[in-house]
Amino acid sequence: MEECIFCKIITGEIPSTTVYEDETIKAFLDISQTTPGHTLIVPKKHVADIFEYDQTLAAEVFGRIPKIARAIKNSDDSIKGMNIVNNNGAIAYQSVFHSHFHLIPRYSKKDDFKMVFTDNSANYKQEKLNQIAAQIKKQL
Ligand code: 5GP
Ligand code: ZN
Repeated sequence: MEECIFCKIITGEIPSTTVYEDETIKAFLDISQTTPGHTLIVPKKHVADIFEYDQTLAAEVFGRIPKIARAIKNSDDSIKGMNIVNNNGAIAYQSVFHSHFHLIPRYSKKDDFKMVFTDNSANYKQEKLNQIAAQIKKQL
């Protein structure tokens, strides 16, 4: 944790461009600015990823996102939408292992953010979907 870059940003040891801060979260501009206004929301408590949240922390962090999302959207008339992205694990493109949410304002189909959702629905009959759902439900 001593080496966590986001913990250092939270304490101010590493500078950041802050847009909002309270006792629970800090929101600051992502250095990469994938699109203008690209913001990270991080819990002040060090949790590595979504799998480490309890319900209270999740409610506290998620509950603060809409206000910040609206502020970003209202900051520029050319923002038409927003992707909110939370990567968990290196396989899922997480590179900083202090949980965070990316708020990525969207300006046009040709801006610098992309996501691909492959449609595999033709390969899944209802029986297979039921099997997958049953495996998940067993863990809840
Ligand atoms: P991840 O890939 O883990 O989902 O996202 C990590 C994000 O942190 C990246 O988008 C990267 O640009 C951002 N980032 C990494 N180091 C710093 C930093 O020192 N300052 C800021 N503001 N953002 C950073
Ligand atoms: Zn941390």
